[in-house]
Amino acid sequence: MQFLEQIPLASYTTFGIGGPARWFAEAQTEDDLIEAIGFARERDIPLFILGGGSNLLVSDTGFPGLVIRIALKGIDQNASQFSVAAGEDWDKFVSFAVDQNYGGIECLAGIPGSVGGTPVQNVGAYGQEVAQTVHSVRVLDLQTMRFLELSAAECGFAYRRSIFNNSQRGRYIVTRVTYEFKKDAVAVVSYADLKRYFQDKSAVPTLSEVSSAVRQIRQQKGMYIVPGDPDCRSAGSFFKNPVISRTHFAQIAANFDGFQVPNYPAENDQVKLPAAWLLDQAGFHKGFALGRAGISSKHTLALINRGGACAADIAALRDAIVAKVVEKFAIQLEPEPVWVE
Ligand SMILES: Cc1cc2nc3c(=O)[nH]c(=O)nc-3n(C[C@H](O)[C@H](O)[C@H](O)COP(=O)(O)OP(=O)(O)OC[C@H]3O[C@@H](n4cnc5c(N)ncnc54)[C@H](O)[C@@H]3O)c2cc1C
Repeated sequence: MQFLEQIPLASYTTFGIGGPARWFAEAQTEDDLIEAIGFARERDIPLFILGGGSNLLVSDTGFPGLVIRIALKGIDQNASQFSVAAGEDWDKFVSFAVDQNYGGIECLAGIPGSVGGTPVQNVGAYGQEVAQTVHSVRVLDLQTMRFLELSAAECGFAYRRSIFNNSQRGRYIVTRVTYEFKKDAVAVVSYADLKRYFQDKSAVPTLSEVSSAVRQIRQQKGMYIVPGDPDCRSAGSFFKNPVISRTHFAQIAANFDGFQVPNYPAENDQVKLPAAWLLDQAGFHKGFALGRAGISSKHTLALINRGGACAADIAALRDAIVAKVVEKFAIQLEPEPVWVE
């Protein structure tokens, strides 16, 4: 296994931003992982696990320890169960399952990144999230240096959350994910965009039609990575949709007398608001620019690198948005991408 020094991280991220990793190694097997961790522990340096780099904002000073890029490959299929190595490309795997007419992740087509990244924030889109199909997750426990299989229940999935990015952050490295799908399932068409897409079609759309519709819709929003499209130099949605109390929501709604404030029911009788709506109301519209950082011209929620931006440029825009939304709505927006430094 090779341990490289001072490797710029920008090209490993979809933002195209980030300083160097002091040390950098690619793990192609579980044994590589053990070796890499030994290397970091001997030197007493921090570890960072890199998947597809699609949910990261790497600081301009880079990372002072060892970045391990997860490059484990392989798909084992047993009837409707697919055990997939963490380094496999997620969108290619979606096609692999959909091409065999297995349903469960057709709406998650077009999300960039690795398979190992999907349970971390319980990726979701267009009416599905991986929590619905994850059977178990194989991990290396850094506390005991043992490999173990966590059941879906043990992963603690919730909206954009799991134990991996929450209570047990930094403890586990995902090496495989096992998904359980349904053969010949009826495709999920629950989101308004998808319903609109198929409104003139009389027959029920197939899984493959739904996944390609999702990719097309995502592309129109700059949420499907197309080389050369500047709106794609992002980490997808930059802010989570905030969840607030009913009382807080009533206060906001009262200020919008006569206008409908978009909202959805959330856990524990709370209310979820679309972060994109809050940004718009706070004056941050599609195409907004602040120096080399900006907002996608196709999607209000995607902060982008307009060309040559550094992490500080994106952070300045993030801070300006957060401050304005606090001032206007008393809501503290939470960024979705992981800040690496
Ligand atoms: C254009 C665009 C559209 C997007 N659309 C969506 C969307 O619709 N829905 C959605 O949920 N997300 C979306 N995202 C965000 C992102 O694609 C997902 O969160 C993705 O799953 C991240 O995976 P990754 O491999 O790129 O992880 P990375 O960005 O490399 O890492 C993200 C976090 O996961 C950790 N991690 C990664 N791999 C492992 C592993 N094997 N073991 C332990 N920890 C690991 C990292 O340490 C880091 O903390 C979008 C991003 C972009 C750029």
